[in-house]
Amino acid sequence: MQLVNITEINKNIVIDLRYASKNNFTNQVLYKSNDCLLRQDVALALDKVQQDLEKNNMTLKIWDAYRPIEVQEILKSIINDPNFVSEFSNHSQGIAVDVTLSNQEMPTDFDEFNEKANPNYNNLPENKIKNRNLLKSAMEKHGFKQNEYEWWHFDYINNLN
Ligand SMILES: [Zn+2]
Repeated sequence: MQLVNITEINKNIVIDLRYASKNNFTNQVLYKSNDCLLRQDVALALDKVQQDLEKNNMTLKIWDAYRPIEVQEILKSIINDPNFVSEFSNHSQGIAVDVTLSNQEMPTDFDEFNEKANPNYNNLPENKIKNRNLLKSAMEKHGFKQNEYEWWHFDYINNLN
């Protein structure tokens, strides 16, 4: 698994790895640094997503990317719900990302484990739905698939090209 630092590929993408701070649902610092690592083809795809978003004056922000197996184990032990924290995460392969739009109103904060996390939840102000849809279409255009329980989680599925 070849991991790259996304900042070396695109400097405009905002990096806010929540597990590198206490600002996450565990209230613990789980990562040693805010370096955002991903498999190279995934990082290159996100570069294209960012270039598209910039045309709409939007900026991609990453909440989580590559997640070491040890951290996945910790999260699993805290959240005992396979819909939210799975046994084997694509995060541990560097092919999943948790993303949002920087400085925009979105349906929830990161890792808000409730009905509003569902990508089909629509009891929301119109601008939040619009922003969620914009993020989804920008990501899908470049080979990502949105998770069915978390609007912010995307898996890279275009890895056969
Ligand atoms: Zn995720």
